[in-house]
Amino acid sequence: MRKQGEEKLEKLGLDKVKDKNGRKYKANDFQVSCVHCKHDKFEQSSALLNTRGMSYLGLDWLNNSASTLMCKRCGFIHWFGIGLTEIEDETK
Ligand SMILES: [Zn+2]
Repeated sequence: MRKQGEEKLEKLGLDKVKDKNGRKYKANDFQVSCVHCKHDKFEQSSALLNTRGMSYLGLDWLNNSASTLMCKRCGFIHWFGIGLTEIEDETK
């Protein structure tokens, strides 16, 4: 039990380090690179858009499926309305 817990902590720590450097992503089989600085590593988040506010603004078409990738170098935020695939780091 105790050992499992430690392994889990270790794994979380590694994930944190990896997130700090960012990850590579593909959108529809094209690798994403920053439109501003050409960097290729991003931090992904999903935006919750299916809110009453969005409907009120007539932005229903944005509902459900938007993801954002923030460039780890310059901070430019890219919006995607389709699913993103994470590219495994080859150094892993
Ligand atoms: Zn950038």
